[in-house]
Amino acid sequence: MTADDARQAFHSRLDDELGRLRDAGLYKPERILASRQGAQVTCDDGKLLVNLCANNYLGLSGDADMAQAAIDAVGQYGYGLSSVRFICGTQTVHKQLESALAQFLGIEDAILFAAAFDANGGVFEPLFDEHDAIISDALNHASIIDGIRLCRAQRFRYRHDDMADLEAQLQAAAGSRHRIIVTDGVFSMDGTIAQLDRICDLAGRYGALVMVDDSHATGFIGPTGRGTHELHQVMGRIDIITGTLGKALGGAMGGFVAARREVVQTLRQKSRPYLFSNTLAPMIAGASLSVLQRLAASGELRDRLHANTAYFRAGVTALGFTVKPGKHPIVPVMLFEAPLAQQFAQRLYALGVLVTGFFYPVVPLGQARVRVQLSAAHTRKQLDLALAAFAQAGRELGILQS
Ligand SMILES: *Cc1c(COP(=O)(O)O)cnc(C)c1O
Repeated sequence: MTADDARQAFHSRLDDELGRLRDAGLYKPERILASRQGAQVTCDDGKLLVNLCANNYLGLSGDADMAQAAIDAVGQYGYGLSSVRFICGTQTVHKQLESALAQFLGIEDAILFAAAFDANGGVFEPLFDEHDAIISDALNHASIIDGIRLCRAQRFRYRHDDMADLEAQLQAAAGSRHRIIVTDGVFSMDGTIAQLDRICDLAGRYGALVMVDDSHATGFIGPTGRGTHELHQVMGRIDIITGTLGKALGGAMGGFVAARREVVQTLRQKSRPYLFSNTLAPMIAGASLSVLQRLAASGELRDRLHANTAYFRAGVTALGFTVKPGKHPIVPVMLFEAPLAQQFAQRLYALGVLVTGFFYPVVPLGQARVRVQLSAAHTRKQLDLALAAFAQAGRELGILQS
């Protein structure tokens, strides 16, 4: 085979696989925004849409003060570091943010990563080996699954949110040096909040550690927005918290691990995504720091987010849609069948509302839905427009009785 033949074979194999994805309706196209991220966005076709599918919970992604905080940080610290942290990539702003995150979360110390994906990818391997057991919720985020794969610890999986099965897995893992229970704080497809109080009780009974990935919670869940551990009154009982700067806390990018000092120091010495990848840009560190200060000073954004969530949940339920119950700003509107979820999202787009349909294999077969995500930035007018569009599309597609 010539090099040209080999290349041709490679690229046509990929082309075939992409074709199969398209045929199966699993190909993911990308919407192109021509505007800032926000409660309302403009697409590249000029269409203005109420945006109900960003993780922009506190409305900070396109916020003017947020952008100014980043500009201020660029002015002071420059654009980038061209270095990993341990060579010459640590600035005062990175240390300030790590300490502010630790304080906000009520944990001793914190370490920054370029993304939560990296934080989860790099947290297990330096801390655990074949003498240890990791006990993981079946629906945990992909980055947790990958991080566990990169580590030599024994793996145990418990049925999603099932405390009896968690207990069985804790018993199955008896004899390990360390056992750690790992869960998302909030599961993104349903908005389900992990039962951290019961998880911590089980951990206490079986002498296990607890790790929570609070990417869909930090900044807005719990009485002062610290996260699911604050909501469930187990602050001080969680050993490791991972999270993102790419959702509620401004939406740029970046992640972190917060834990006791020994854990954070070990990660600084041994975590591969930390050692072998560039420092988080100082403008992101500076702007994230300003968010934590803003959240400490006022609960206004959090209150608005929860008021918007309650308003939309009540409105869409009253229209007659089937909504997964809960309090999180993730509101799954159930359509059950994949083609219907797709048609519904398309019709909403035409009516000026941006939502995404989710179907198998992202959610279980027969559980297709559109996932609505509320933001503090939504106005009542925008939510009313969205509800009117849901009503119209629902009647047109026979989901609602007209
Ligand atoms: C979004 C998300 C991540 C990834 O966060 P990034 O900072 O974008 O890499 C990790 N874990 C959970 C639970 C998430 O929801």
